[in-house]
Amino acid sequence: MLDVLIRNGWVADGTGSPPFLGDVAIEDGRVAEVGRLTPEATAQRVIDATGKVVCPGFVDPHSHSDFSLLANPTAESTIRQGVTTEVVGNCGWSYAPVTKHSREYMSGRLHTFGYDGPVIPWTTFGEHLGFLSDVGHTPNLAWFVGHNAIRLAAGVSGPHPSEEQTATMEGFLREAMDEGALGMSTGLEFNPGREATTEELVRLNAIAGGYDGLYTSHVRNRDADILHAIAEFLEVARAGGARAEISHLNVRHNTGAPDRGWERAVEMMAAARAQGLDVLADTTPFREGLGQLAGILPPWVAADGAEAAVARLRDPQTRARLRTECDRYWRFIHKGEWDRVRLQASEQHPELDGLSFAQIAELQKADPWDCFFDILADAGTAYESVLVVGTLFTDEHLAEMISHPLFCLGVDTFTATLDGPLAEVIRHPLGYAGHVHYLTHHVRECSTLRLEEAIRKMTSMPAAHFGLWDRGLLRAGYAADVVVFDFDELDDVSTTEQPHAYARGVEHVLVNGVLVVDDGEHTGARPGRHLLRR
Ligand SMILES: [Zn+2]
Repeated sequence: MLDVLIRNGWVADGTGSPPFLGDVAIEDGRVAEVGRLTPEATAQRVIDATGKVVCPGFVDPHSHSDFSLLANPTAESTIRQGVTTEVVGNCGWSYAPVTKHSREYMSGRLHTFGYDGPVIPWTTFGEHLGFLSDVGHTPNLAWFVGHNAIRLAAGVSGPHPSEEQTATMEGFLREAMDEGALGMSTGLEFNPGREATTEELVRLNAIAGGYDGLYTSHVRNRDADILHAIAEFLEVARAGGARAEISHLNVRHNTGAPDRGWERAVEMMAAARAQGLDVLADTTPFREGLGQLAGILPPWVAADGAEAAVARLRDPQTRARLRTECDRYWRFIHKGEWDRVRLQASEQHPELDGLSFAQIAELQKADPWDCFFDILADAGTAYESVLVVGTLFTDEHLAEMISHPLFCLGVDTFTATLDGPLAEVIRHPLGYAGHVHYLTHHVRECSTLRLEEAIRKMTSMPAAHFGLWDRGLLRAGYAADVVVFDFDELDDVSTTEQPHAYARGVEHVLVNGVLVVDDGEHTGARPGRHLLRR
């Protein structure tokens, strides 16, 4: 007898073909059959999907759920949207390797995301994966190893690691690749990745390439220097081999990008594809995006470590200098557009969470720059963990990214929960309804793309690109990651004003054949696996 039989749904199988009426049979964690089964076919559990859409579980090509998973191993907000696989370790950040050089820093970051367990007990990449397996997690996870983590663990500071430090970084990368990492990620707008030279990245990525690894990058610049940043990306990617992903390839509104900057960047990507580099990009679903408040600081602030940086942030003379030198990352801040930046997770200032810096300045009857310096400095040595949500894009730019054939659909945030300390860390629908928003807003309301095309960009497209060979399609033999949702009832629920709510309309979710959402409720099951590079 079958384990699960999903009857009479509109099957959008992940290929992008229009949905067809059919059944999906599941046995031993795999899809056994897709099509019209005989009326006699039966299963331990039969789900009537009449009038519902049945599709593969969503694969987020760019997630940061590894930040919050230890505080939220059941991935409450994302699993209820049907996200069954999250590609994590992005933007240069993974929580391994960890050494004496980075343990305190990494513990501080994890603490920001609601982790209250013992001081990080793992060292290697493999031990980190093992720790998470022991805890158990609901979604599948596919891993990049973060260049920032590797650099911190090797004790590197400044742009020129010693030969010994470089060898140490190479060793960490090999260890992660041996343990099944997909490849290396970089975050070149953030500390410490932004210190790295192209040469360093080329050398490291050549090692990942030796394992047929992928290179994914939050590139160095996406405004005035976007074309150089893409050229650097392609150089590093080619040093690694054949496969790469440009993380959230976008241009933030009013930040000084050249004419047709985004289009030209995409043309460079397309030209590299034509020459044989399998490179794609991803986007996010909202005009707003998550960011790191310290990202606008020039590198010299952090050059002597976190304590010195905090002292600098308090010093009036340094503040005066910083007002003219913080022209990077979200450059609209430098132009005084403080209303576009909202504080998210400030342990020291919970009363300000969710407010824009324009509102904070008004409330405190202070200059927004001073509010900015105060909030960062008050966070102490964890100042780099302070998060913000920015209004980054126009609706038109969002639509062109979402509908572009070379873009997969991701969310670029971490799985949230309404319970526990993590609930306070993100106050935006990104964390609660980001995936569903593609279907409710961009498909249903705006008709930016067809439903089956959106599903393809959220399933088989990222799965194939990241080498997750048995995911992303509803086909016999594929892993049974399946979603059943009511397209008409699909609802973000979460709004900018009232973000703390779970999305509605996703009725059933299976991960590896196990029901993790049943009749819209989380079952508590944790059948997720690490999807390792083959
Ligand atoms: Zn990023």
